[in-house]
Amino acid sequence: MPGSFKTQAIVLRSIRYGEADRVLHLYSAARGRIGAIAKGSRKPRSRFGGRLEPFFRLDMVLHEGRGDLATVTGVHTVDGYPNLRSSGPAISAAARGCDAVLRLLDSAEANPAAYNLLCRYLSLLDGQDEGAETDGAAGLSTALAFRLKLALSAGFAPELSTCARCGEPDGLTAFSGSAGGVVCGACERDGFEISGGAHRFMLDAIGRPLAQAPVATNEALRMAERAITTTLEHHAQVHLRSAA
Ligand SMILES: [Zn+2]
Repeated sequence: MPGSFKTQAIVLRSIRYGEADRVLHLYSAARGRIGAIAKGSRKPRSRFGGRLEPFFRLDMVLHEGRGDLATVTGVHTVDGYPNLRSSGPAISAAARGCDAVLRLLDSAEANPAAYNLLCRYLSLLDGQDEGAETDGAAGLSTALAFRLKLALSAGFAPELSTCARCGEPDGLTAFSGSAGGVVCGACERDGFEISGGAHRFMLDAIGRPLAQAPVATNEALRMAERAITTTLEHHAQVHLRSAA
């Protein structure tokens, strides 16, 4: 149904189009994934200014016509995350985070958990949460906690409490992407060995706020990353770039 609507949205990707336009991939609060065109936005005196760039959090007015793309008619900045933009590692982490949203959440339905999680992650990378570290190993653990919570919000969280094949609660020593979770010794045929540290990291990361991502060794974090990646490959048919 053609008409205008308002929503808050994060710019996931911004692509130059034609002479002076931009095509935007947005993740919105009201309607999930939206593709939009901003006409004339690359002209020097465009009323959109420089805000149609990746990671901007915007209040938007969009017009829906008959085509696949909505047309941007109004934009107001909610947060431009300026500190994030001045840090190479933060930009890289934000780009990987937005890429994960782009691949994993393609529905045009609102998903408040996913939207709020993305906003929270960008705020953290912008340094708006004092005490939270996003560099080095802490950066990787936060990036993986974001990925796990994102998988949960998309309905693809790995099974972590009992064997994903037989339900056995003890002796969970391996992880199977095809089973979609931790598996016991008797069920580990197509799995890979997973340490107690990696298993605990995933349980804690899901249970805690993003700003308090658990500490773990680099080895445990890489195992957790492999577990998340293989789960999404098998169950969401999505291949994510490495987390850091
Ligand atoms: Zn089992």
